[in-house]
Amino acid sequence: MNSRKGTGTFQTGSPNLVAQIERLEKLFTIETPKLKEITDHFVNELTRGLSVEGGTIPMNPTWVMSFPNGYETGTFLALDMGGTNLRVCEITLTEQKSEFDIIQSKYRMPEELKTGDADELWDYIADCLHQFIDTHHGDNEKLEKLPLGFTFSYPATQDYIDSGVLQRWTKGFDIDGVEGQNVVPMFEAALKRRGVPIKLAALINDTTGTLIASAYTDTKMKIGCIFGTGCNAAYMEDCGSIPKLAHMNLPPDTPMAINCEWGAFDNEHKVLPITPYDKTIDELSPRPGQQAFEKMIAGLYLGELFRLVLVDLHQNKDVHIFAGQDVSRLMKPYSLDSSFLSAIEEDSFENLAETLDLFQSKLALSPSHQELELIRRTAELIGTRAARLSACGVAAISKKKGYKTCHVGADGSVFNKYPHFKARGAQALREILDWPEKKNPDEEDPIEILAAEDGSGVGAALIAALTLKRVKEGNL
Ligand code: BGC
Ligand code: MG
Repeated sequence: MNSRKGTGTFQTGSPNLVAQIERLEKLFTIETPKLKEITDHFVNELTRGLSVEGGTIPMNPTWVMSFPNGYETGTFLALDMGGTNLRVCEITLTEQKSEFDIIQSKYRMPEELKTGDADELWDYIADCLHQFIDTHHGDNEKLEKLPLGFTFSYPATQDYIDSGVLQRWTKGFDIDGVEGQNVVPMFEAALKRRGVPIKLAALINDTTGTLIASAYTDTKMKIGCIFGTGCNAAYMEDCGSIPKLAHMNLPPDTPMAINCEWGAFDNEHKVLPITPYDKTIDELSPRPGQQAFEKMIAGLYLGELFRLVLVDLHQNKDVHIFAGQDVSRLMKPYSLDSSFLSAIEEDSFENLAETLDLFQSKLALSPSHQELELIRRTAELIGTRAARLSACGVAAISKKKGYKTCHVGADGSVFNKYPHFKARGAQALREILDWPEKKNPDEEDPIEILAAEDGSGVGAALIAALTLKRVKEGNL
């Protein structure tokens, strides 16, 4: 594969700079055989996670035990505690097949809350719910009856759908006293403190919500993925293939959605081509040794990886980029997010004028043209690696399940906004699964990764609906 396609070359750069670019290309490029090796290891890890002994990937059963049929109805509340926003929705699944109405409000998730105190977090969430009710409803009577789906997108052990013991915080969250605890009673206690008359019906992962929401409108959807601040996927397994649930004596063909928590893939660094920059990200994170795969793909880390490369090339005496300039802003950890990288990748390679603008306005730096080319190439390498690695996870689930053709619903800022992420992922999938080249560009791939339906809104409502139906029918 020509990894430089469409970007120009660097023959004019100083020899040291060219050598650095070559070094970075070696570090960040993942060729087809390596993608296949990662995928094969991934398939084994999916299986190991379902075993009684367990593996590295949690593979959490979610107690979502069927796909929707499109005829679900009712009105539900949904709460999504994301990394940047907190969203509250009221969703009505209408009589028309696969249709819904939604009203929603978004609240900012204050940065301090992520590393603050547990009670402050729960109280803030309860306050947002309270505000939503005030804005959209006069009479609480009716609301009391609306079941709530709470999308809590962190790894949680669930013995029931309305409970979840937080395994560990991810995505930079670090709040004492929650890990190892069931988050539902904490949440309900805060609702009670604030007098919010709402009853939780289901605790949901965003990937499971994405899977179910996507399957509501497209029955070919078999996998739900998030490529956003974090990175993860869910799919439907048969209970017969989940040895760690054998004690439940469920019929072997009973479906069970599994939240893979694949961000933890290869925490032990057996196959992933880890760079020194990945090591630094990990060591300085609140949870070193955790989420190895996620730290190479997710939006939270892409800008930081990029920043670390630039800092390294500034400090490297042979190249010394940004020589003589004030790099104090560049030195600030997590000062660049993935939208910064997106903007660089969107710029036209011809003069990189936007990139220069960005560096001047955000970092007070004026890179030379050669440096701009290096910057652009670095962004491409990091963005391409993330997309190609993400395809390994999708390929692994497809291989494990024997899916030759299906749709994969994907959501998240990286998937939706990062330039070329979809095309690069699709290309990698093609390489891993040995598909022949397309005859015409409009032809569908056997496995297509498509934009998902709203998982933490509609998905959460559907899961609440499916849960109530299951309870009513007396199945668990
Ligand atoms: C969390 C997952 C979540 C993913 C995407 C990860 O950090 O562990 O539960 O699905 O981010 O939001
Ligand atoms: Mg989300």
